[in-house]
Order: sequence, then structure tokens, then C-alpha cells
Amino acid sequence: MNSDIKRLSRKSKATRKVNIGSTVIGGDKVVVIAGPCTIESEKQVNSIADFVKENGATALRGGAWKPRTSPYSFRGLGEEGVDYLIKAGLDAGLPIVTEVTRPELVNKLEGRIDCFQVGAKNMQNFDLLEELGKIDKPVLLKKSQYATYEEFLLAAEYIANAGNENIILCERGTRTAENLIRSTFDVSAIPVLKSMTDLPVIADPSHAAGRSDIVKDLSKAAIAAGADGLLIEVHETPEEALCDGEQSIDFNEFKGLIDESRIIAEAVGRSL
Ligand code: PEP
Ligand code: MN
Repeated sequence: MNSDIKRLSRKSKATRKVNIGSTVIGGDKVVVIAGPCTIESEKQVNSIADFVKENGATALRGGAWKPRTSPYSFRGLGEEGVDYLIKAGLDAGLPIVTEVTRPELVNKLEGRIDCFQVGAKNMQNFDLLEELGKIDKPVLLKKSQYATYEEFLLAAEYIANAGNENIILCERGTRTAENLIRSTFDVSAIPVLKSMTDLPVIADPSHAAGRSDIVKDLSKAAIAAGADGLLIEVHETPEEALCDGEQSIDFNEFKGLIDESRIIAEAVGRSL
């Protein structure tokens, strides 16, 4: 292993625990962070928050600054979106996770949100990583679809070296020749990363799949492989979603995912 993976190389048998608000990642319980890809309106995020809270989620996700592949796609509501997310999280009793794309957003949001997400496209945005290293809030770092495991851990090392080791790693698919799925969900990433580091590792089957029909099966595979949590895109009416509707699961599908994932979690000695 690359010898520059210093601070985050595995030092003990146990997984480190990282807290998002009152939600503990890295313990016996497999956590579910669920919500829309993008915050679209107050009503949209409230209704999703209430539903996922009632049905097993332990944190709420939602993007306000979306790094889209095309500049013509919907790129999020910005600060207005974060206001809606904060309110929905408070009302539902769920801690919140949102993605930041620029260093100046870190200071602005530090006292307002529970966890900062760094998206796959920003995994090596080193200025952003170092800014997140200066705070104490947890950082959910997603693996670029082009990165090796070592490059991923070196990106996390930027945050740790700047002073913050509250990091949650997230596998969200890697680019392969296959074009019937958006990316290939890399099950190996979970046990291999866990052998390299004691940080918690979660899985985002939604972005890997790019299609809602396989999100549940990939979730089960991730838990069986040792994932400490799931990051799931949920929308009340996925066909109307402004971003990532193809992979967003609806309320019924979310219930099914939770029920079946719980069985797998219990089979591997965990709860959900
Ligand atoms: C997201 O979580 O909505 C997102 C943009 O994911 P990724 O960075 O993995 O593409
Ligand atoms: Mn998305």
C-alpha cells in the first residue's frame, strides 16, 4: 500500500465510528441515508423526509449544488435548497447531508448542516478537501468513478492531514465497458477499503446503477460485503424528478429495500 496513506491506514481491528448528528456510522447498525438527488421544493423534500424517517432511514440527503455533466441540466437551488433541507431534517428528526462543490461553502454551512458530501466529480478537488480538513463536521467522501483505491484514500488523507479524521468513504460505482448500467457497482471496494483503513465504508447503489430496478439488489450485496451504510436516492414521483429520476426509487420500492436489506444485515450479524 502507498506509504503516504499514513493517518488513515488501518491501525486497529475495530471500525472507527463517525457521527452524523446522532447517527453513528461504523457501529453494528447499518445506516441508511436517504433522500432526493436534488432538493426541488420545500414540499418535495418535506414529504420525502417524513416518509424515509418513518420507514427506516437514519439521515436525510439532498443536493443543493449539483455538479452536472451538462451545463444545461438543472444545477440545484443553492442556499434556498439548503434552507428547505434543514427545515425538513428538523421536522422529521433526521440529521442532514448535503454536497458542497467549493471551499467557500464550507464555512458558510458549517454550523447549519450535519455532514458535508464531496461528490465523485470533486474527489480530487484538493482545495475543497483541505477546507473540510479545517472543521470537525463529518465528511462523506465519494470515490471517483476513475480512481484507484489508493488514490481514493490519498484524497481522504488530504482531509485528515488538514486536521479532520471524521471521514466516511463511499463507493458509488466505477466506469467500465458496460453501458446498460451507469457505472459498475464495485463490491470489492468494500472489503478491500476496509482492509486498508479503519474508516467506515458505505455504498451508494443508486449512482452506480443509474436505474431504479437494481438498487435494492445492489444494496443487499453491499451489506453482505460489509458496508456500514447505504446512500439511497428516493423520490415520491421519480418520473418527475429534476435530476437522477431514472435511478431514484419511489416510496414503495424504498419500503421493500429496507425490508430485504434488514434480513441481509441480520444474516451478517448486524442490524438495520
Ligand atoms: C449525488 O450524490 O447526487 C451525486 C452527484 O453523486 P456522485 O458524486 O457519486 O455522482
Ligand atoms: Mn444524484
